[in-house]
Amino acid sequence: MAKYPFLQETKEHVSKLDIDVEELEEVERIVERARERIFASFEFVSYFSQKPSKDLEVEIFSFPVSIMLVTGVKDNALTERFALHEAGTIFEYLRKEKSETILDIAQSFDWRIRETKQSPHPFAMHFINYLKNATRGRLVHSPEWKLVNRQLHKGEVHVSTREVCRLLQEEMKKYIEDMAGKKISTVPQNIQEVIDEIKSEFSKRKPHLSEFDKIVKAEESEYPPCIRIFLDRAVEGQHLSHTERFTLVTYLLHQGVSIDGVIKMFANVADFKENKTRYQVEHLAGQRGSQTEYRPYNCSTLKTHGACPDSDDPICHTIKSPLTYHLRKKPTEGKA
Ligand code: SF4
Repeated sequence: MAKYPFLQETKEHVSKLDIDVEELEEVERIVERARERIFASFEFVSYFSQKPSKDLEVEIFSFPVSIMLVTGVKDNALTERFALHEAGTIFEYLRKEKSETILDIAQSFDWRIRETKQSPHPFAMHFINYLKNATRGRLVHSPEWKLVNRQLHKGEVHVSTREVCRLLQEEMKKYIEDMAGKKISTVPQNIQEVIDEIKSEFSKRKPHLSEFDKIVKAEESEYPPCIRIFLDRAVEGQHLSHTERFTLVTYLLHQGVSIDGVIKMFANVADFKENKTRYQVEHLAGQRGSQTEYRPYNCSTLKTHGACPDSDDPICHTIKSPLTYHLRKKPTEGKA
């Protein structure tokens, strides 16, 4: 229940305890944990370095309370960021679950899904459930998620375990955003003080967040397929090989992304250490050591290292370096 706060069992458990907002004035630890969850979403705290409360009741209650606090701030950017972070944390839990648990959770969202146990796609899900989630968030920009690139048989899309978890992540993000979009009645004074504190701290971080968003979302459609995939994996906290990290960092630096912006890309990666990452990024930007400004590997080197996703993208057939992708992208789109 603490891991999956959207489940019916959790809701029933919370309602049975019959705690109302007034009583929450007394429950400082719940409010503190709820506050921590929200701060983690805009301070780029890794999913792995979060410390859930050892008291399960505190952990369970901190979810609805954090939704209440986010609702109170009334800022769509915070709502989205909080939903993204919570859904990302749940994705990390889900990946380690047995297939029966994953199926149970998917079915709690009324998905039509079954286990086929066939590698590499051990699940088959109804294409409507697939489409609804594969067209949300960052997935919408990735060719690998487009329905035309999938195996579709009798209305079912065949997917890997990781893909089911990733699609569930989008479902959960939407669920949390909807919950936080509801109106709340008046809140007690001490809760209002926490809301005001979150509002103030979030507005201080907002200028940096917008650069992060610009990198991840707005210009994403102009990034070559390899960079989109590396970026997606870095933001989700997944491991990148040395070649992939080097390519992503040097590419972003060449696109004019600041050193701080690049460092934030890696905040969710399991072994993230800000000082070490800063040193490496500054080195690649030519601010340390030999003062050489490094360039990304060219396409043939990336292919040799297995880091090119072997894209069907027609632009990829006309370029030698990921750096020139966006130069071809604009005229092509203009003609279309
Ligand atoms: S061809 Fe080049 S730009 Fe395209 S995905 Fe492969 S490495 Fe990236």
